[in-house]
Amino acid sequence: MEPFDVVIVGARCAGSPLAVLLARRSLRVCVLDKARFPSDTPSTHVIQPSGVAVLDRLGVLDTVLAAGAVQLTAFTMVNEHARIEADLTDAAVRAAYGAAGAGLCVRRVTLDHLLVAAAGEAGVDVRTRTGVTGLRHDGTRVTGVETTHGPVRASLVVGADGRHSTVARLAGAAEYHTTGPCRPFTWAYFDGVADTEARLRLGRLGDLAFLSSPTDGGLYLAGAIPSSGVDTREESFMARFAAWPELAERLDGARRVGPIRVVPDCRGYFRSATGPGWVLTGDAGQFKDPTPAQGISDAFRQAERLADAIVAGLGGSAVLDDELRRWWRWRDDDCYEMHWLATDMGAPGLPSPLITQVLRDIAGDVPATVALLRVLNRDLRPSRLFTPRRLLTAAARAMGAQPTRIPALAHEAASLAGQELRRARQRRLGTRGRILASVPRTRVRTLAP
Ligand SMILES: Cc1cc2nc3c(=O)[nH]c(=O)nc-3n(C[C@H](O)[C@H](O)[C@H](O)COP(=O)(O)OP(=O)(O)OC[C@H]3O[C@@H](n4cnc5c(N)ncnc54)[C@H](O)[C@@H]3O)c2cc1C
Repeated sequence: MEPFDVVIVGARCAGSPLAVLLARRSLRVCVLDKARFPSDTPSTHVIQPSGVAVLDRLGVLDTVLAAGAVQLTAFTMVNEHARIEADLTDAAVRAAYGAAGAGLCVRRVTLDHLLVAAAGEAGVDVRTRTGVTGLRHDGTRVTGVETTHGPVRASLVVGADGRHSTVARLAGAAEYHTTGPCRPFTWAYFDGVADTEARLRLGRLGDLAFLSSPTDGGLYLAGAIPSSGVDTREESFMARFAAWPELAERLDGARRVGPIRVVPDCRGYFRSATGPGWVLTGDAGQFKDPTPAQGISDAFRQAERLADAIVAGLGGSAVLDDELRRWWRWRDDDCYEMHWLATDMGAPGLPSPLITQVLRDIAGDVPATVALLRVLNRDLRPSRLFTPRRLLTAAARAMGAQPTRIPALAHEAASLAGQELRRARQRRLGTRGRILASVPRTRVRTLAP
């Protein structure tokens, strides 16, 4: 049994990039994953330009592109009668995105394998088909893991093991900012789609949500997501596309490849991110509704920040604990606004008339459209785009256009304002306050500083 500086549980978007970055800084790193690679994981896979920039810095972007990743050149977002279009090759849009350029669409079976290979090439001890079953302790401090192939000792255990994180459960990480019922995310792949344009489409029509993009392997990803209920029958799935004719047209004559995939529970949460000898990253520590396609680039961004924190904490346990608590505060701040925007974007039910008007206003305003792309790319906080002034203007416009709906629109505006106030209050309470408010005291084992 080797003593490592860091053992990372989970080798996909959060784990392998972190391993590469730490190994490059001469740390002894072991990555464990119960999966074998290449293998798929239940997730769609649109990567924001900021995530593509991390792939570039990791030195794997060329390999990912050579494996067939599709570079997105156009974006459409439809919300009832609001339609936002962007040409991602346009000079103004590219300038807003910086050097990162376009986002990517590449299946996880392709991407994750390349990330794991990059970890191996960086000198990381990569052990796949190895499940973590327990944590090792020295007093209260975590000092390694128990696995299906024996113990592994390390100064720090990183849980990069996804939504059902074993490390989070064993460490007793408390949840906060949890969200309510979500849509059962439902999608499939098709071949023979005639349209070769690399356009990402996101849609909300009636109570259905949609997502589509070409992807690697010559395939086309298409999701049609109901508000509730898991129904993977071919006829139910395909019938949903009729609600968005431009998507139905593209799928006409195409052949479905593989099963209809469903993730029934996409409820969001934050988890306390660190304690003595352990830290969580990626979905293990925070998960948000997948509608705005954030999780992969978030995992990449967190890998970079966490690598810096771990290296800065090399001076000893106290210094490391301090650095990791600082990292926790950064993560919460970084994810807070997008967590709620994602929740709103993916919410089951009919689209809100007020938000539809806001999106119509954005559609008619090129700088606002670019700002929306920057929000999705995490260059701009959602609160900088969705300002109270923009909401009030949209409310006034919607009321002017539909005087009979004034009471309903006024009610909606008031409830949105109330929701924003509650969220701002939760944020002010801070992590410690949220955990104390949301879980029984006996379950609180780790608290933010
Ligand atoms: C339906 C759906 C659609 C999504 N669509 C998008 C999208 O379009 N764009 C986007 O950016 N994000 C999307 N996301 C989010 C994205 O999938 C995640 O944010 C991302 O996978 C996080 O990566 P991760 O490495 O933290 O976790 P994961 O990818 O879940 O990897 C965790 C790894 O840990 C391993 N593991 C777990 N437990 C153990 C154990 N006990 N021992 C050893 N290994 C273990 C697993 O085998 C797995 O390989 C979507 C998510 C869902 C659910």
